[in-house]
Amino acid sequence: MKTIIEPFKIKSVEPIRFTTKEERKKILESAGYNTFLIHADDVLIDLLTDSGTSAMSSDQWAGIMRGDESYAGAKSFYRFESAVKNITGDTFIIPTHQGRAAEKILFSIIGGPGKYFASNTFFDTTRANIEFTGAEAVDLLCAVGKRPEERAPFKGNMDVDALENLIGKVGKENIPLVMLTVTNNSGGGQPVSMQNIRDVKEVCKKFQLPLYFDACRFAENAYFIKLREKGYENKSVLEICKEMFSYADGSTMSAKKDALVNIGGWLSLNDEELAMKCRNLLIVTEGFPTYGGLAGRDLEAIAQGLEEVVDEHYLQYRIRSTEYLGEKLINAGVPIIEPPGGHAIYIDAKRFLPHVPVNEYPGQSIVCELYVEGGLRTCEIGSVMFGKYDKDGKLIPAMMELVRLAIPRRVYTQSHIDYVAEVVIEVFNRREKLKGVEIIYEAPMLRHFTAKFKPH
Ligand SMILES: *Cc1c(COP(=O)(O)O)cnc(C)c1O
Repeated sequence: MKTIIEPFKIKSVEPIRFTTKEERKKILESAGYNTFLIHADDVLIDLLTDSGTSAMSSDQWAGIMRGDESYAGAKSFYRFESAVKNITGDTFIIPTHQGRAAEKILFSIIGGPGKYFASNTFFDTTRANIEFTGAEAVDLLCAVGKRPEERAPFKGNMDVDALENLIGKVGKENIPLVMLTVTNNSGGGQPVSMQNIRDVKEVCKKFQLPLYFDACRFAENAYFIKLREKGYENKSVLEICKEMFSYADGSTMSAKKDALVNIGGWLSLNDEELAMKCRNLLIVTEGFPTYGGLAGRDLEAIAQGLEEVVDEHYLQYRIRSTEYLGEKLINAGVPIIEPPGGHAIYIDAKRFLPHVPVNEYPGQSIVCELYVEGGLRTCEIGSVMFGKYDKDGKLIPAMMELVRLAIPRRVYTQSHIDYVAEVVIEVFNRREKLKGVEIIYEAPMLRHFTAKFKPH
């Protein structure tokens, strides 16, 4: 088989700035050893997130020019609506400025104290929007999804028995909806199988509960189904997407992921009464229902992005380039979550730095070293992000200590990825010399964004 190439050529380039190791040491120190606080211009390869960092196509940029900026009933809205309908099949399509705005609207209407929401794994903004209403967000990930070193094709699946148990325990009247996050971002970008979607739908049907998707990476999920699930190898990705969504009653979406744009989102649903309530809240918080916090040009770019994201040459390149980085790291012995997910590689920091205890934040130590070594910006997803304290001020660590290397869509070439692997392997080869870090400042909530550290 021949090399899988980037299915595009480059028309416009954005230079990246080289710095020396000495400069990076100083930059990191003045940022309090927190890569969120580094200027992007001081980063060589930015793997902080795949959200809103996609490169748009020439057709999307053309759409930006075509954008109809009419306040109401813009042509661009109808193009957006029909593109979203084509994939979701849903009746009511509500644009929002990003994913969390859709979540905020949906959950503030159906949430509240005493309510429970179940998911394979709620993403952090989704969980926050549920908990903000006083409701509870319950993660019911299948067992294999919690074991980072074990390979399985669909580690994003929901534990269906656990869902039935939850319904039995809290009562179906207290569960406004069940949600599947496709792919499971917080669980390593792992996909959910069509069989699992069907099984979850069966339970939902039995208890008359709506099933929603957190659909941010629906196309990557569909491509994994095509690659890994029997019976789907000859279906088109668009057909698979349509089948996935045929089991759902609605979706929330961050267009910053699989719509290949820099801003945008939606809430889609079939329940007319709920849709009316959502639209009314949208008018107060986001804007009129035919633009919902976006410009007409953004709606055009999303509509075009949704056509491009289901292109199988694109998805083959996308999934393969993540896997390619994963393979290089695995071959060098670097411990990562296996198999590689769709949008990111997750280094298992506990196995990478077994000599650094969790209260010295091994993930953060790796993040800092990757920056100094090669100008890479990555993100700790471990006890800096999710750690809490008990009554005596002792750290309650996160379930896993991970470092995420998120791959922006269509932005970096194979040689960039080769370079990333070289930097990670270089740091891995001298891992014994790495030390932990200590937190010297932290905010009471979402501390990872602003915390300051001191290296040991
Ligand atoms: C990014 C993301 C969101 C939130 O979307 P924003 O556009 O960042 O508000 C929700 N769920 C998942 C799975 C995500 O990856």
